[in-house]
Amino acid sequence: MADCIFCKIAEKEIPATIVYEDDKIISFKDLEPQAPVHVLIIPKKHIESLDDLKEEDRELIAHLMLKVKDIAAELGLENGYRLVNNCGEDGFQTVKHLHFHLLGKRKMTWPPG
Ligand code: AMP
Ligand code: ZN
Repeated sequence: MADCIFCKIAEKEIPATIVYEDDKIISFKDLEPQAPVHVLIIPKKHIESLDDLKEEDRELIAHLMLKVKDIAAELGLENGYRLVNNCGEDGFQTVKHLHFHLLGKRKMTWPPG
């Protein structure tokens, strides 16, 4: 989608430090890391948010979720990690292309801010 920064990363139009990629999803380092390990995992398909998932995306989202543990393992997060999705305005979603934050290598706290 035009003017979507994450579509541009998926299409290699703007640079990112990619840690995993296949035909359906891509994972890259967050520009402003909130933990020693902080990557984003996104579908290559432009889906605005979790709220915009459709039945036809079932296989895609299952594929993404099943890759989380593999990406976490590859990044050395054997002691655990946090997976975050910010959805919509109250969720403080700033980039309108579905993404999951994978954070690790520090002890997380609860509740989140
Ligand atoms: P959210 O607030 O959940 O929408 O998160 C958007 C995330 O995207 C933030 O953590 C930003 O630091 C990150 N971000 C924005 N632009 C880029 C970029 N070009 N490359 C990597 N991460 C980015
Ligand atoms: Zn997009």
